[in-house]
Amino acid sequence: MENYLYNCHYCNKEYKPRRRKKQKYCSNSCRTLAFNLKKKSQLSFPININKNNKTSIDKMSVAGIGNAAVGTFAVNTITNWLTRDENKPATKKDIKDIKELVLKRYHEILNMQTDSYGNYPYYDIELRTVVYLKK
Ligand SMILES: [Zn+2]
Repeated sequence: MENYLYNCHYCNKEYKPRRRKKQKYCSNSCRTLAFNLKKKSQLSFPININKNNKTSIDKMSVAGIGNAAVGTFAVNTITNWLTRDENKPATKKDIKDIKELVLKRYHEILNMQTDSYGNYPYYDIELRTVVYLKK
């Protein structure tokens, strides 16, 4: 018998565990809720970048990545895009995640020419390749 209290990993309430070590939650309902939350948070990240699909990269064509003034524009663009596709507004956390993702993923290459469509070369950190994006 345990003679100390655990904190529920979901509601953070103190409880006396019925089973040694294994128990993380005060009740079955907290266990279920925590499981659902985890499942949901894994599915909720809204950008699903298809690595082989250039269209999806073009779609997020965040004009002027690497430009100091890009932040607001990029966030607005992505917000509109998410709102349209997901039919729900993105949360501030979503926006922050996306902004970081986008701003970190592509880095403009200064010593290469634009492609025949006038897209600018960027180094895609994730794919470790050069991609051409609209500016
Ligand atoms: Zn609980």
